[in-house]
Amino acid sequence: MREYMHFINGEYTRGSSGKTFDNINPCDGSVLGQVHEGGQAEIDAACEAARAAMKGPWGSMPMNERLDLLHKVADRIDERFDEFLEAECADTGKPVELASHIDIPRGAANFRVFADVVRNVPAESFRMDTPDGRGALNYAIRVPKGVVGVIAPWNLPLLLMTWKVGPALACGNAVVVKPSEETPGTTTLLGDVMNEVGVPKGVFNVVHGFGPNSAGEFLTRHKQVDAITFTGETRTGAAIMKACSDRIADVSFELGGKNPGIFFEDCDVDNAVSVAMRSCFGNCGQVCLGTERIYVHRSIFDEFVDKLAAGAKRLKMGPPGSGSNLGPLISRQHRDKVLSYYQKAVDEGATVVTGGGVPDLGEALENGSWVEPTIWTGLSEDAAVIREEIFGPCTHVRPFDDEDEVIALANDTDYGLAATMHTRDALRAHRVAQQLEAGLIWVNEWFLRDLRTPFGGSKMSGIGREGGVHSLEFYTEMRNICIKL
Ligand code: NDP
Repeated sequence: MREYMHFINGEYTRGSSGKTFDNINPCDGSVLGQVHEGGQAEIDAACEAARAAMKGPWGSMPMNERLDLLHKVADRIDERFDEFLEAECADTGKPVELASHIDIPRGAANFRVFADVVRNVPAESFRMDTPDGRGALNYAIRVPKGVVGVIAPWNLPLLLMTWKVGPALACGNAVVVKPSEETPGTTTLLGDVMNEVGVPKGVFNVVHGFGPNSAGEFLTRHKQVDAITFTGETRTGAAIMKACSDRIADVSFELGGKNPGIFFEDCDVDNAVSVAMRSCFGNCGQVCLGTERIYVHRSIFDEFVDKLAAGAKRLKMGPPGSGSNLGPLISRQHRDKVLSYYQKAVDEGATVVTGGGVPDLGEALENGSWVEPTIWTGLSEDAAVIREEIFGPCTHVRPFDDEDEVIALANDTDYGLAATMHTRDALRAHRVAQQLEAGLIWVNEWFLRDLRTPFGGSKMSGIGREGGVHSLEFYTEMRNICIKL
């Protein structure tokens, strides 16, 4: 049985309440281990440790020494790759293929890239005129915000947590992380890595627990926490914003999406379908950037739907290590939500092209959180499965006739995170991309990320941008110093 403890001030601790909760294997519903449940006492201790680290050796460490340490963190994740991979796959049930190509390498890259961004960021300075003719020199320095609360979801646990912890530490902050209750593994393991490479105590803290009225909410309300960076559902983001508003703590939000995929008549259909296979079904559809609304030019609609459906039927469902390319959903609770949308689609008159239910994978997996990859056609744009984020392996495909029509359809959503577009016409690619209301737009690809670029969403998909120098805007305060000459 695994045991997941908090990591506070450089030490693993069971905390004070003695309460634990089960860590469930989403493949078969078995109990993998016990997670210690943190409350106010653990959040207090973690925030105090983080504050002390800022006042102590971390706060006074020379920048290059700090950034070299973060490179060592990345190197150590690489060296302990198999342990991270095992922990991530056990918690999520995701295919080994996927986690070994995306989750774990990106976990390491997030430390390297942001260490290098901070090392190379240019400074800002201005010479100004003064009435006495002697002038003044203005320059700006960046200082860490202080203690940053990091609240992470379960879909890409290591990747999304380090995407925040990497830049936060590179900028000189200390962090308190609240991972999702579903995925405690890799975040807990990272504590050990921090100790191994000599990151000072209190710089990286982890408290396990739940969201409302638990560790998550206590972290967002804590007076010692200067900023909260959160990835998760839009509704949770709204609750966190309220919790932070009393003390005007800064927030950065990466929230939900209902992302369109547009397929023009001149696209390379086979390539487009293979990209759509990843964007609709990758990570069992549990990717904020995933494509749950597809618009295909009428002239290639039938061919596209047939090929996408054939691809969905070829997907092999199974636990990590079984050669599968489709894992389970994260939990039974999430499966109930996804299946409720499968039912709503039928109730609202959809044609179910493929899937729509629960697969029969045999007795050993019958208590897992499996659902079939699902494609619908025939719904009107006000249907629930077209308006609301489902976060499952499913998509609706609709034909369109012209460019203006499809831009309007794509933008007709409360969300604005990502969009993909497929065309061979470069002018059209630029023209349409500039009209799509989304933070990230891919042409002939999906989820191709350069970590130096801005990442984030508009409308209800988030506040702010992280990535490259944009992360510095959130994880540092700028201080203007004016010297009269
Ligand atoms: P949730 O919003 O349910 O949870 C995210 C985290 O917030 C968890 O650690 C959760 O704790 C915690 N939490 C929940 N309520 C509160 C609260 N009141 N105060 C403080 N913390 C709280 O999201 P999911 O984990 O379900 O993740 C899926 C969502 O994440 C989807 O909507 C998806 O679109 C979004 N997402 C967005 C991304 C982006 O970049 N825009 C990227 C990836 C996902 P616990 O679960 O332990 O209760």
